[in-house]
Amino acid sequence: MYLANEHRYEQMMYRRAGKSGLKLSVLGLGFWHNFGSVDEYETQKQIVRTAFDAGITYFDLANNYGPVAGSAETNFGHLMDEDLKPYRDELVIASKAGHRMWDGPYGDGGSMKNILASADQSLQRMHLDYVDIFYSHRPDPDTPVEETAYALDKLVREGKALYIGISKYNPEQTAAIEAVFDDLHTPYIVHQDRYNLFDRHIEDGLLDRLTADQTGLVTFSSLAQGLLTDRYLNGIPEDSRAHRSTSPFLHEDQVEQTLSTVKRLNEIAQQRDQSLADMAIAWLLHHQQVTSVLIGASRPEQLRDNLGALKHLDFSDDELAAINAALK
Ligand code: NDP
Repeated sequence: MYLANEHRYEQMMYRRAGKSGLKLSVLGLGFWHNFGSVDEYETQKQIVRTAFDAGITYFDLANNYGPVAGSAETNFGHLMDEDLKPYRDELVIASKAGHRMWDGPYGDGGSMKNILASADQSLQRMHLDYVDIFYSHRPDPDTPVEETAYALDKLVREGKALYIGISKYNPEQTAAIEAVFDDLHTPYIVHQDRYNLFDRHIEDGLLDRLTADQTGLVTFSSLAQGLLTDRYLNGIPEDSRAHRSTSPFLHEDQVEQTLSTVKRLNEIAQQRDQSLADMAIAWLLHHQQVTSVLIGASRPEQLRDNLGALKHLDFSDDELAAINAALK
């Protein structure tokens, strides 16, 4: 039987999501990769135990995570039954709908039809009565924004979600759906987007918008899928994401293209007495808008390594300038 580490809340930090009452662990565990039916279940269990034992309370899932789509939630359901059920009230579990999940016209997008059915399926797979956060996984230009907002709001009214988030909405799309949430008094509290040392597109408007609206930011691909770690410093390992054919969003040529920059960043991290992954996480957390940094891990050791980020979160002006220079 799993007994969680009794000191788990001593090392982690927690930040309030925007102006809401909900605090998230500043590191969140992502289930996009490494938790599918193609992955070793025992490793998944060890990763999740390592996370919770270190005070990580935020687990980020989505209907389509796998592969196969849905299997990450199914595996999480088994982990709930075997390990986590006694700790349900200590966890923030998130799911999402919006990307293609099942065949036919209703398995995709932001319609009422898709979101309500998808949420029910996710709850069944995860063996949960409710999720803590339910996200619209992407803006859907083919569905009126009011409809997507009503669907998300309905999940809250029906007790299937406590809070609502949106993901990958640009500043204009964010403003549009937020206006409906305001009218409905929907507990919309977090925005989830890609943000890392390489990809700073949200600095172009979205960060300011989130600050003004007091919405929390959850970052994904915080380590650029592993590029911002020591994973590829000496070549492309066989078991790495860039090498695995099940990972359509990270290619070996991206490793080659970024290697010289990664090496320069790694030197700066070493001067800070930190691993590159830890510096990349710390850099995100020094932005006050960031509530939680999502990280993926293919083994517990990576997660343990990444916890080191919390030991050194400050940056001097010289270090920030050196980082920006290395990225040019
Ligand atoms: P990261 O950028 O955190 O990359 C994770 C990968 O980096 C790991 O699988 C591992 O690669 C490598 N890694 C992590 N730590 C270390 C370390 N210490 N040393 C060496 N390598 C390391 O994450 P993801 O892109 O997976 O995103 C994280 C989460 O964000 C997802 O799981 C998901 O929950 C969410 N997300 C949301 C999206 C959205 O549309 N809203 C889109 C994408 C992600 P390897 O597997 O090669 O070992």
